[in-house]
Amino acid sequence: MESRACSRVACQASAVATLTFDYSDALAVLGPLAVTKSPHSFDLCARHAQLTTVPTGWSLMRHAALGGDQPER
Ligand SMILES: [Zn+2]
Repeated sequence: MESRACSRVACQASAVATLTFDYSDALAVLGPLAVTKSPHSFDLCARHAQLTTVPTGWSLMRHAALGGDQPER
């Protein structure tokens, strides 16, 4: 299986999670690494997945496997 690098600039770590934006619901979903790369998703390493924040007015949903399922405020 092909491994992908974190999308963050200057980060060389391998991606373990995929952040997907649902623009219609202003919802960002952080889940397990997606099998296929989509233009509306970003692959993140464990550290950047933890550091992820979303713009004001957006909700962030973390997949339970990634440390919680509570939307962030
Ligand atoms: Zn990273």
